[in-house]
Amino acid sequence: MSEHVDVLIIGAGLSGIGAAAQLRQGLPELSVAVLEGREASGGTWDLFRYPGIRSDSDMFTFGFKWHPWPSDQSLADGHMILDYLHTIEQEYGVDRLIRYQHTVTAVDWDTAAKQWTVTATTPEGEKRFTTNFLWACAGYYDYDEGHKPEFPGLSEFEGTFVHPQHWPDDLDYAGKKVVVVGSGATAVTLVPAMAEQTEHITMLQRTPTYIMSRPAKDPLARLLGSTLDRVPDSVPFKRLREKAGYEATRWANILLLVGSYQLSRRKPELMKRMVRKNVVEQLTARPGQPGMSEQEAEAYAAKHFSPPYDPWDQRLCVVPNGDLFRAIRKGKASVVTDRIRTFTPKGIELESGETLEADIVISATGLKIKLFGGVKVHVDGEPVDISTSMSYKALMLSGVPNFAFTIGYTNASWTLKADLVGDFVVRMLQHMRARGFTEALVERDPSVEERPFMDLASGYIQRAAEAMPRQGDRAPWMLKQNYLSDLRVMRREVEDGVIRFS
Ligand SMILES: Cc1cc2nc3c(=O)[nH]c(=O)nc-3n(C[C@H](O)[C@H](O)[C@H](O)COP(=O)(O)OP(=O)(O)OC[C@H]3O[C@@H](n4cnc5c(N)ncnc54)[C@H](O)[C@@H]3O)c2cc1C
Repeated sequence: MSEHVDVLIIGAGLSGIGAAAQLRQGLPELSVAVLEGREASGGTWDLFRYPGIRSDSDMFTFGFKWHPWPSDQSLADGHMILDYLHTIEQEYGVDRLIRYQHTVTAVDWDTAAKQWTVTATTPEGEKRFTTNFLWACAGYYDYDEGHKPEFPGLSEFEGTFVHPQHWPDDLDYAGKKVVVVGSGATAVTLVPAMAEQTEHITMLQRTPTYIMSRPAKDPLARLLGSTLDRVPDSVPFKRLREKAGYEATRWANILLLVGSYQLSRRKPELMKRMVRKNVVEQLTARPGQPGMSEQEAEAYAAKHFSPPYDPWDQRLCVVPNGDLFRAIRKGKASVVTDRIRTFTPKGIELESGETLEADIVISATGLKIKLFGGVKVHVDGEPVDISTSMSYKALMLSGVPNFAFTIGYTNASWTLKADLVGDFVVRMLQHMRARGFTEALVERDPSVEERPFMDLASGYIQRAAEAMPRQGDRAPWMLKQNYLSDLRVMRREVEDGVIRFS
């Protein structure tokens, strides 16, 4: 026996919770189920438990546009994000739709019956569901394991080796020598968060990353918040003004994000100078406090914070209130740019000949990409090779009917894109209901040239590029990863002559 729902969502992370809440708001009459493989919702924000876990996007764009982020804290701690998601679940009735410990393994579209059969493994054995519309919100990486490079000699290492994706609850790092391998968002979060308690912590990087300091609290949100706080509750329209304040802060952050990305792509040298200036200022000693001279800071920035690529060829990292640089100024943390020759019993030997002693090594070496939760997709019993399909508006796949997916931006807040996908899918389903359509399908257009699905040179994207679907060289087969232009493309009529409704 299988259970039938109108829409079935895979994954109860930020995207799945958002998708279900948008369906509740736009199509409350539909039956919806959210199948979640784990025992908890929240996805990334529940899985990652390392010290200091936080967003590196501002919360005014990382929060949903339809549910204001309730604080002026712009770069928020993981538990705050999780609380926000749980509140949304309750407020929009999503909590009642989630089936935990339901890992979707395979889906099969039946053209004659116009429905999907979804197979999930559960503690009670395999279960089947049927649904008219399938929405994959399964994130973009493998939950079981992160990316683990082959480290020579690792088996010789006598200390503790940790991957941030599986943080041991009982890891005691007080007074220990710690090496964090990597220089991405996770490494730059871990180093300052652990620095105060460790004897010393070293960020060991093969290649530097662009890193900028950003206020942890949003200046505009603080100003608007403190102004509104002075307005008595009895004053009419206070709530309206709060909403307008959120919108203003959100748009200011969107323009900043889009503006700084465009500046990076169009004037990379200018952006490089701006980032470098920020780093040098951050490393230079304040009066009466430890730190570097300006010359030392210049040399340190040149060696450790000047990547060989342009800003946004790979993700640019932000650190709240310069916390990473503060730990370096205080001598609690340092950066080493070198390559690992081999692990030794007591630490790491580098290609330069230098050695790093370590009690604990943390491999912040990134994620292993896995799209659509590793689900095997079939159409009428035939397996679909995702890598040969082209994505439409980066939310549907050619040749796969009644299917949408949410994968957010890599160069801006994930949620900006997730919200656009949600708006579109809800509008498309409303349109299908109004017109009595039972199938929506896009087919590849041979005149459209292929482009990579994710346009980042980062190792974790490149390693998985072959297995990903393709994008096209023009709208609606291409999204520009630019919220302002994507907003225009996504808001066009659903009947655009490309989606075939029947
Ligand atoms: C450490 C870290 C920090 C990040 N910080 C930011 C940030 O600051 N800003 C930003 O924009 N992005 C950030 N990201 C990207 C982040 O993943 C997204 O922002 C967002 O949380 C993704 O939400 P999601 O629901 O799409 O995916 P996830 O959070 O990955 O959730 C996917 C859910 O689907 C479930 N699932 C997967 N496969 C299946 C299956 N087969 N069956 C059933 N359930 C399944 C998973 O168990 C999980 O609950 C970060 C990522 C990481 C790893």
